[in-house]
Amino acid sequence: MHSQTYIHSDPLIESLPLSNISRAMDDDEVVIIGAGICGLATALALHRKGIKSVVMERSESLRNVTGAAIGIQPNGWRALDQLGVSENLRHTAVRLRRFRTLDISLGGGKQKEISLCDGETRWLRRKDLIDTLYAELPPGAVKFGFQLESIKFDPYSSKPVLRFIDGSSIVAKVVIGCDGGKSIIAQFLGLKPTKIFPLCAVRGLTYYPNGHSYDYEFAKVMKDNISVGRVTIDDNLVYWFCFLPYIPKDEKVWEDPEVTRQLTLELLSNHPQEIHQEIHELIENADMKSLSITHMRYRAPWDLLTGSFCKGTVMVSGDAMHVMGPFLAQGGAAGIEDAVVLARIMAQLDLNSVESGSKVMAHKVEESFNQFVKQRRMRVVRLSLQTYIIGMLSGTPSFIKKVIYIMLLVVLFPNPYNHVNYDCGDL
Ligand SMILES: Cc1cc2nc3c(=O)[nH]c(=O)nc-3n(C[C@H](O)[C@H](O)[C@H](O)COP(=O)(O)OP(=O)(O)OC[C@H]3O[C@@H](n4cnc5c(N)ncnc54)[C@H](O)[C@@H]3O)c2cc1C
Repeated sequence: MHSQTYIHSDPLIESLPLSNISRAMDDDEVVIIGAGICGLATALALHRKGIKSVVMERSESLRNVTGAAIGIQPNGWRALDQLGVSENLRHTAVRLRRFRTLDISLGGGKQKEISLCDGETRWLRRKDLIDTLYAELPPGAVKFGFQLESIKFDPYSSKPVLRFIDGSSIVAKVVIGCDGGKSIIAQFLGLKPTKIFPLCAVRGLTYYPNGHSYDYEFAKVMKDNISVGRVTIDDNLVYWFCFLPYIPKDEKVWEDPEVTRQLTLELLSNHPQEIHQEIHELIENADMKSLSITHMRYRAPWDLLTGSFCKGTVMVSGDAMHVMGPFLAQGGAAGIEDAVVLARIMAQLDLNSVESGSKVMAHKVEESFNQFVKQRRMRVVRLSLQTYIIGMLSGTPSFIKKVIYIMLLVVLFPNPYNHVNYDCGDL
């Protein structure tokens, strides 16, 4: 018998042909919305624990190009180790030796250098991370072309009913919203809307067929409210990024990568000659397919402290729960940690031993979601708070505000790299 129950009590769904209702799936226990890093990692973590799930993604294929590259620091590698995918990924990017930052705002020029000898840090192509997670899933685990439109509880069974924009609907037992920073599931749970930093990020990859001369490092220069950085991915590939002042969505720069590139170069023209020359060359030679511009969302740390991230058998994870901006390079890794912690807790429920669809199961799932939120809340509050302060520091032109943000960082985060020591535990 299918463990998926199709609703007959909902007039909205009653009016749909059965083929429409059931085209998505057959008898999956857990529905994950969104095949980004967190959705795929969650499906994989559950799969490793013997819990079947289906991921429903609005795009027609994996969104593995957007964003070019992603930094994975020691805490992220620990989580990837648990998922059993770290060995393959290690071969795709070099291990970095140091972080180098130079702040030339306010007439200064002090360089900070942090050795990365003690912890593994690599910047991966996003494509490699997403493709690797996807490849480990059983066939058919991801259903493409399903854009969630709305979710509600069936008033009779209390099960979540998911409605997609093509008119199809399903009744799930368990829903995990990994649908990113503008999550429909988060909205359903009553979380406050996410906000946007007063900045834009432009990112891309530059390929050097005959090799480049950069060291294995992360190097960033900050001048006023513009930051620019480069990171070595391998001997031929360099990832670069620029945090620029906020640009509204309706400008042409959002539609044409060539305009994005030109504007970025223009905004960097006031940087000292040597820095400008280097970054100019990187951006000028960038692979245009990898170049993108984005706003940077965040869930306010104080909303994370108080928000309800689950209701009944519905919850959010990854950016849908704690989108936080890129300033610590931790959002994606935090989503992978979420996946490990959630699957561990859910597996402890021994779902298979409980009659499918029973009230006992629903209670156990709720209990596991509550435990998940309890274990994850303070971790993501801390990450988000640190990211938020750095983001505000980068985005403000005001000298006084800069001083306040720096003081807050020094007081609240005396060891600014402490977050990479976090261990999400065994799967
Ligand atoms: C400029 C920048 C740089 C960053 N750098 C780093 C870094 O170096 N290291 C790091 O760890 N993190 C970094 N991050 C953060 C990281 O990119 C995110 O935290 C991570 O991608 C979030 O993954 P996710 O799966 O939770 O959400 P997403 O990647 O947003 O995935 C959500 C998925 O859900 C799908 N979806 C959305 N709505 C629906 C719907 N209604 N129906 C069906 N599907 C839907 C989307 O198509 C998408 O595939 C950076 C972020 C930015 C903006």
